[in-house]
Amino acid sequence: MGGRELLNWDGSRKLYGEALELLPGGVNSPVRAMRSIGRDPIFIERGEGPYLFDVDGNRYVDWVCSWGPLIAGHAEPSILAAVRAAAERGTTYGAPTAGEVALAREVAKRFDSVEMIRMTSSGTEAAMGAIRLARAVTGRDALVKFAGAYHGHTDGLLVSAGSGMATAGKPSSPGVPAAVAEQTAVVPWNDADAVEAALAARPVAALLVEPIPANMGLVPPAEGFLKRLRELADQYGAVLVFDEVISGFRVSRGGAQELTGVQPDVTAFGKVIGGGLPAAAFGASSEMMNHLAPAGDVYQAGTLSGNPLAVAAGLATMELLDEAAYLKLSQTTDALADALRDAARDHPVQVVSVPGLVTPFFTDQPVSDFEGANSCDMDAYARFCRELIERGVYPPASQFEAWFPSLAHDEETVEMTAAAAAEAFDAVFADG
Ligand SMILES: *Cc1c(COP(=O)(O)O)cnc(C)c1O
Repeated sequence: MGGRELLNWDGSRKLYGEALELLPGGVNSPVRAMRSIGRDPIFIERGEGPYLFDVDGNRYVDWVCSWGPLIAGHAEPSILAAVRAAAERGTTYGAPTAGEVALAREVAKRFDSVEMIRMTSSGTEAAMGAIRLARAVTGRDALVKFAGAYHGHTDGLLVSAGSGMATAGKPSSPGVPAAVAEQTAVVPWNDADAVEAALAARPVAALLVEPIPANMGLVPPAEGFLKRLRELADQYGAVLVFDEVISGFRVSRGGAQELTGVQPDVTAFGKVIGGGLPAAAFGASSEMMNHLAPAGDVYQAGTLSGNPLAVAAGLATMELLDEAAYLKLSQTTDALADALRDAARDHPVQVVSVPGLVTPFFTDQPVSDFEGANSCDMDAYARFCRELIERGVYPPASQFEAWFPSLAHDEETVEMTAAAAAEAFDAVFADG
């Protein structure tokens, strides 16, 4: 255990105690509580580049990066300067600004399938807007989504598979009306026959797809699968929606659709597009988008949509994301994935990566769908995370999340992670 620091979390523990009385579970979003890795949350004081600093004075190499938005790392100087300058001109007007036009132009430049966007404040709202638009243009209600995909916490998408393959889904959370869940069929990822059965079973408004799913851990599509989804959507008259809230601006300049060459009808954006501030969007052809009010009659709105600070942060982030940046991100991703693979040696771990995303699955089988992800050794992943945290490395506290390399990570942070991971894997598998 050479070099292992003994951290203490007295300050975090005290704050967590107070938080538990004022916030359900002590947090404002469930995964932050770290319950699935069997420990208490760590309260953060600040971030800098690839590092997080907690209220207890500990430093961590941060592979969460706020779950995706911080592709440039924490407190990147040019993004801070842009936000500061915007704030000095006022924080919100409820009226259009030049920045929104510039950001829309930048998105349209990067994504061939997008001519116009509508901004929202969260990815959840972007997915909601995409669905309403799809329902409006098709005159249909039903949706098809994939098991293990996440599209935000809206009613119709917090749904799990019903008893029959191609039939109605059931609520995956109390509070979701059964009548709403029934409108959504849930099918296994990478299973084109199940998709076709669901599309044939009833008229479907939208086929919702995370083209490079990263919410069951990272499970890239099988060869030709997205192309098949495009064909099936066309054949059955469903709108093909790519939820690129994670993959957009991350896996390549033009997201998963550029990387795979498959174009959707509608795309949802989030996370990176807001540069670390609350912004998201959905986009499509002008013909499709002009159905939205006030150009058309499909209602969608937001008090802080296109917020000037978030737009400034998004634009400053885009400015950093040139070809050299994607090359660097890809190299850092490979270095992290290789480091984890080397550290795992012959332990039963599958390290999966695409540029900007990595998941080490605790299984000896390749993972191709939610069932595979679900059969990983969750206790082993949990122990691995706890061991990493004690060694100053901050991983996503769930087997179902991806690790997020950023432009701020470098050789040093990868080496620190490699050393911690080697000890952590040994600790995990020593007991087994
Ligand atoms: C995070 C996420 C969302 C939801 O975005 P929020 O901003 O958290 O509402 C939607 N889709 C995908 C693929 C996501 O990863």
